[in-house]
Amino acid sequence: MNRAARILAAACATLLLLPCLGFGLFGLLASQEPGAGIGWTIGYIVFELVLIGMIAAGWWAALRRDPRLPWECPSCGYDRRSSSDGPCPECGAIMG
Ligand SMILES: [Zn+2]
Repeated sequence: MNRAARILAAACATLLLLPCLGFGLFGLLASQEPGAGIGWTIGYIVFELVLIGMIAAGWWAALRRDPRLPWECPSCGYDRRSSSDGPCPECGAIMG
C-alpha cells in the first residue's frame, strides 16, 4: 500500500471508531450515576483507551516513513548497489 492509501485507511478507521468512542464516553458518564459499580467506570475507561490506542496505531502506521530497501542508504535513500562498502557516496552516512 502506498502512503495515500494508508492515510485513507487510517481516516476510514478513525471515522468508524469515533462513534464507538462516543458510545464509550456516554457509558462513562452513565457509570457515574449513584449506585453504578466502579467496575463499569474502569471498564469504560479501558474501552476508551483501547479505541484511542487503535486510532493512534492506525495513524502511526499510515504516517511513518516507508522502510528503505536493503541496498538503499538508510539516511538519504541512495541506491548503493553499484558502489563499494564504506560511507554513502551521496551523503556520507556510515552503513551499519
Ligand atoms: Zn546516503
